[in-house]
Amino acid sequence: MRYISTRGMAPRVDFEGALFSGYASDGGLFMPEELPQLSTETLRQWSTLSYPGLVKELCTLFIGPELIPRDVLNGLIDQAFSRFRHREVVHLSRLRNGLNVLELWHGVTYAFKDLSLCCTAQFLQYFLEKKEKHVTVVVGTSGDTGSAAIESVQGAKNMDIIVLLPKGHCTKIQELQMTTVLRENVHVFGVEGNSDELDEPIKAVFADVAFVKKHNLMSLNSINWSRVLVQMAHHFFAYFQCVPSLDMDPLPRVEVVVPTGAAGNLAAGCIAQKMGLPIGLVVAVNRNDIIHRTVQQGNFSLSEAVEQTLASAMDIQVPYNMERIFWLLSGSNSQVTRALMEQFERTQSVSLPKELHSKRRWESEQMAVLHDRCCVEQCPGNRDPRGGCVMILGTATVTGGG
Ligand SMILES: *Cc1c(COP(=O)(O)O)cnc(C)c1O
Repeated sequence: MRYISTRGMAPRVDFEGALFSGYASDGGLFMPEELPQLSTETLRQWSTLSYPGLVKELCTLFIGPELIPRDVLNGLIDQAFSRFRHREVVHLSRLRNGLNVLELWHGVTYAFKDLSLCCTAQFLQYFLEKKEKHVTVVVGTSGDTGSAAIESVQGAKNMDIIVLLPKGHCTKIQELQMTTVLRENVHVFGVEGNSDELDEPIKAVFADVAFVKKHNLMSLNSINWSRVLVQMAHHFFAYFQCVPSLDMDPLPRVEVVVPTGAAGNLAAGCIAQKMGLPIGLVVAVNRNDIIHRTVQQGNFSLSEAVEQTLASAMDIQVPYNMERIFWLLSGSNSQVTRALMEQFERTQSVSLPKELHSKRRWESEQMAVLHDRCCVEQCPGNRDPRGGCVMILGTATVTGGG
């Protein structure tokens, strides 16, 4: 499997290249050159797999045995989930009337990011050990990412991690999760500013290609392809747990509500959709609602400031992974995506071109938005008379947010 940049001006890379680079050299994000289409038969076969089993299947499709042999890959994934508190790793709680919560918080730091980061860290270590190389991971965080990233790489021989946390913007417990790890490879700094402001210098550092190369820097923020890849398993697992039967043709639809910040989880859901998983996506946002403006009005524009809410992990002004979603919506058109994102970077405000924004477009991509002023009952859900159900991807963490 090869990966190309959403902006179309960077060389193609393999999984290892995408894993280690974060952003592509043209400022875009890596996407698979082609998305495998899953037949109903494959979906039926996958429907009985455990959560780790699904992660293994998905990673096999997108990494390729020539890079990591299948049995080694399986071992890395088992190792990644070995410290989760729940024996199923991810558990679906059934509430009422088809309303379910996928419990994604059984990892060491209670953040759903534990799931994708611990796998990603295993993949990194595999390649680093093989090549006897060392990297320094640089992470900006409003809480969850920092704790989970530290947990996933602490003690690793070939990696150092530098975490910037916005002073006063993380909960006490998360600050402690980050500042009390006494491993030599973990370096945590408190900085002034909010989490978006803190992303600026990080983006500038990564734009300096020579500097990045010299120091072997890499990011583990949610733009990293490997994280998106692992998160696809949430959507498959949710679907198989919620769907009343897989014997119907076509398969019933399940609606997945995704608490959204940087839209990594959402991008994973969009890719799963494109591969043939019959899910509808409902984007749940709080007052930081750029995605709401985008889907409703085609208005992808920055708000004046980040608004602090109880769900600090969703207090994000720029949902970076929307670039992947625009690319998918445009039919993998890198020219359209590049023009749009470059204009956004210049003016911080873009009206989506018509071919991207039409009600029909978003609906055919099956995406709706749930604002925090709405309640779950207002979800478009249950549009499938054969019993599609509403499902919430529960990402709640020690912040109580999400
Ligand atoms: C990271 C996070 C989110 C947002 O996830 P994205 O994939 O960045 O959209 C939502 N809720 C919680 C609790 C999180 O930690």
